[in-house]
Amino acid sequence: MKIAFFSCHSYEQPFLEAANNDRHQLTFFHETLTPETAHLATGYQAICVFVNDDLSRPTLEILMRNGVQLAALRCTGYNQVDIPAAQEFGIRILRVPTYSPHAVAEHAVALLMALNRKTHIAYQRTKKNNFTLDGLMGFDLYGKRIGIIGTGRIGMAFARIMLGFGCRVLAYDKVRSALLQQLGVEYLPLNELLSEADIISLHCPLTPETYHLIDAAALSHMKRGAYLVNTSRGSLLDTPAVLMALQTGQLGALGMDVYELEDDYFFSDWSATPLPDADLDALTHAPNVLVTSHQGFFTREAMQQIAHTTLNNLTYLEHMRLPEDAIVVG
Ligand code: NAD
Repeated sequence: MKIAFFSCHSYEQPFLEAANNDRHQLTFFHETLTPETAHLATGYQAICVFVNDDLSRPTLEILMRNGVQLAALRCTGYNQVDIPAAQEFGIRILRVPTYSPHAVAEHAVALLMALNRKTHIAYQRTKKNNFTLDGLMGFDLYGKRIGIIGTGRIGMAFARIMLGFGCRVLAYDKVRSALLQQLGVEYLPLNELLSEADIISLHCPLTPETYHLIDAAALSHMKRGAYLVNTSRGSLLDTPAVLMALQTGQLGALGMDVYELEDDYFFSDWSATPLPDADLDALTHAPNVLVTSHQGFFTREAMQQIAHTTLNNLTYLEHMRLPEDAIVVG
């Protein structure tokens, strides 16, 4: 199969080539898939895209006209796909249903740990030979209440780590995990979790129901000074409401690996240009906010698994032996 890869960075290519093992003909484009770049896929049966590629109706229509029959996502979430349009245009959509949940869970812990112990500030100070401790005091995680929203693969991995820290783990999910309950995790209604947790970590998918899950009302339910970590999807947060809560101290700190409007910024170097997005600029400059640019997945193990599953999905499809949970539209 001839496959056009969009949003492909040099660090991904070796994993994809190794997993391909000369099975398919791969072309790598650095460009993000948009209606403007969709023409690059002309002559390819399949495209392969990442989290911020645009699979909206206009893009899918151009892809269909250009003969693309298949879109393989190199990620788990598929909120960027217009599913009815893909069905209408007969474009099959595949995804990577699972890969190292530990990669994202451990990154959420890293954000929490850095924010709590102010390692991001200490790092900058000691680089300038400033060895003072003023303003760097954190708190023991031991005994704190951690609220987890979404206890699927990543939320479960995060819960296990937090239990290991000696935290009391509270959770909210529509589906309760018997295993987590056995391990001592306590499921609560959302509002109770919001008001009881010292730290909240988001691990649910972006859906119409979870869009702006953390808005002004949710923030007002939270403990004053609570910490929030979002490694899931940017649009789970109402960004202006979160910025306001950070300014008033209602929210103590925010760790964010995802951002509502990240498509325009993440995975690109904006260091030479003022950021046109005032909210993102405010977030990156706030001392109690730690921004990483969607790197939760970015471990060697996860990259290997993503590459293998993606290339296997494409090969399996040729032989019609694809696992059910890999098919989004098909
Ligand atoms: P998963 O499907 O295993 O788990 C999601 C959980 O969320 C499920 O238990 C589900 O029941 C629950 N859920 C669904 N709707 C909910 C709601 N309204 N309220 C509460 N819980 C709800 O998914 P996962 O593999 O654990 O991934 C979770 C999310 O992490 C993905 O959807 C994706 O957005 C994000 N993610 C981020 C990165 C990254 O690099 N930062 C990488 C992979 C995934």
